Amino acid sequence: MILFDSVTKKYPGDSEAALDSVSLHIEPNEFVFLVGKSGAGKSTLMKMITKEEIPDSGKIIIGGIDLDYVKKRHIPGYRRRLGVVFQDFKLLPRRTVYENVAFALEIAGMSGKEIRRTVPKVLELVDLSEQANKFPDQLSGGQAQRVSIARSVARQPKILIADEPTANLDKLTTQEIIDLLKRINDFGTTILVTTHNENIVNNLQKRVITLKDGKIVNDQKNNGIYNLDSTPVPKQPARRVQTPGHALKPRRKVI
Ligand code: ADP
Repeated sequence: MILFDSVTKKYPGDSEAALDSVSLHIEPNEFVFLVGKSGAGKSTLMKMITKEEIPDSGKIIIGGIDLDYVKKRHIPGYRRRLGVVFQDFKLLPRRTVYENVAFALEIAGMSGKEIRRTVPKVLELVDLSEQANKFPDQLSGGQAQRVSIARSVARQPKILIADEPTANLDKLTTQEIIDLLKRINDFGTTILVTTHNENIVNNLQKRVITLKDGKIVNDQKNNGIYNLDSTPVPKQPARRVQTPGHALKPRRKVI
C-alpha cells in the first residue's frame, strides 16, 4: 500500500512547490501509471517513496511503514524492501548479469546457498538465462533493463517503482518491458510507473494518475488513458435507469 496524505514539497530556492498537498492511495497489487508534463512533480513523488527527498509537510506510509519514523541509518534497509527501476539501468559494469543480480541479494543479506537458488529463477523470469555470463556492455538496452528489473524483483518486493523505465528503449523493447512489469504485477507486486509513453498507457488500460504543477489533477481508477490535464475523460453517455417510484433519472456522472 502506498499512502500520501497532503504531501507538500518545495525545493529550496524554487518559487512553486514541486508537490502541492498531494493525497493518494494505492492498494496492494495495483498497477498505476503516473503521468504529467516535464516538471509536474513525478520524480519528486518517486523520490518521496524512496526517501531520497522528504516532504515539508504531510504523511507518507509505504507498505505499512510511516516514513517519518525511518531514521537516516535505516534508509538503506528500508529501500531494500522496495524494488526500484531506473531509466538508465544503473548496472555494475564490471559484473556479469548473474553477478549484478547476485550482488543485490548479497547486500540484502541472503546466504550464498539461497542466492545460487534464486538468481537462475529470476533470470528465467526475465528471459535472460542465456545472457547470465555477459557483461552490461554486451547487452541491448532492453536486456539491460531486464537485468535491472531482475535485480529489483529478486528480493520479491511488495512494491516496485519505476521512473521512466522505457525512456531509452525502442517501441518493441518498450512493450517487452511493460509486459514484464505486468507479469510481475500478476504475481502480486504493486507497480507504480512514470512514463511519457502514450501508447503503453492507453494499451494497458490500468489506473492513471495525472500530476500537473505538483497537484493530482486526474485519477482514472480503471481503464485510464494518457491524459496530461484535468479535462474529464469522455465516457459512455450516462445511461438512464428506472428507479421504482421515481421518475427516470440519469446515473450519477462519473468524472
Ligand atoms: P517531473 O519528474 O515531472 O519532470 P520533477 O519532480 O523533476 O518533475 O520536478 C518538479 C519541480 O521541482 C520542477 O519545477 C523542478 O524544477 C523542481 N525540482 C526538481 N528537483 C529539484 C531540485 N533538486 N532542486 C530544485 N528544484 C527541483
